[in-house]
Amino acid sequence: MKAWVCPGPGQDLVQVERELPEPGEHEILIRVEACGVCRTDLHVRDGELPDIPYPIVPGHQAVGAVVATGARTRIRTGERVGVAWLGWTCGECSHCRNGRENLCDGARFHGYHIDGGYAEYMLADARFCFVLDRELAASTTAPLLCAGLIGFRTLRLAGEAHRIGMYGFGSAAHILTQVALHEGREVYAFTSPGDREAQRFAREIGVSWAGGSDEPAPRELDAALIFAPVGALVPKALRDVRKGGAVVCGGIHMSDIPSFPYADLWGERLIRSVANLTRQDGRDFMALAAEGFLNPQVTTYPLDHANRALADLRSGKLTGSAVLVVDGQQA
Ligand SMILES: [Zn+2]
Ligand SMILES: [Zn+2]
Repeated sequence: MKAWVCPGPGQDLVQVERELPEPGEHEILIRVEACGVCRTDLHVRDGELPDIPYPIVPGHQAVGAVVATGARTRIRTGERVGVAWLGWTCGECSHCRNGRENLCDGARFHGYHIDGGYAEYMLADARFCFVLDRELAASTTAPLLCAGLIGFRTLRLAGEAHRIGMYGFGSAAHILTQVALHEGREVYAFTSPGDREAQRFAREIGVSWAGGSDEPAPRELDAALIFAPVGALVPKALRDVRKGGAVVCGGIHMSDIPSFPYADLWGERLIRSVANLTRQDGRDFMALAAEGFLNPQVTTYPLDHANRALADLRSGKLTGSAVLVVDGQQA
């Protein structure tokens, strides 16, 4: 099989040929059809996360068909599955036992600790995979598995907020905007300053307002969701939210947050991060997605163009989500 691996921090991915792996007792072997490209893949490539066990195959938004199973899996050969970020948890620590397996200290993640979906085949622990409808298109389902799913957890942490600001209008924000509008909320989109293309895209989806992140919010917001990895957006978003409002950071890595006056936090404003996902988040979100109202905008790349997809994501010239499609597989 063909796989694209990160050989070390700061290095471009390289293609390698590998033997097809054998599934362990809880594992399934998946023939990958499509795998979404996430900003976290860039952080893995750039070495911005701790303890990356290079060489590693990135990718944690994979859709594919099960071609072999271990002895103890519920999922059968021929089923269609989605692989998300969460790859394994200990099941025994206080976080795992209290419904917060996303915080498990022993957790392992696809495309970070476990080889991911930038490959023709991948192994995954069946207990952490989501069975998908066979009819779903792989390319538009893949971005739901991280951008959609962790974005969904980010939105949930904003509580009942009605007027929501989204900072960084890429893969996650454009999917989450569709969820928020479906729930009757208002969305305000903040893009890189001067990115008129992203602002036009946000308006097309139905936001109430779109502008640069250097502009003040046109109305006081109930919550701010930050998807861009830019720490300076945190104090800016804090000034945009009302008393009691929350600023929720949806990324795994961010540049340092500059200092700001305590008065900006005063009034019971809240800053929090979102870490990973639970399997329950996945079941809840995939059930919502099955209602059929989500319409992710994707740019597809052949698997062989993984480096170009990452470069396009970095440069900000992508609209919506980037997805790698494996040759010969349906997209
Ligand atoms: Zn645990
Ligand atoms: Zn991701």
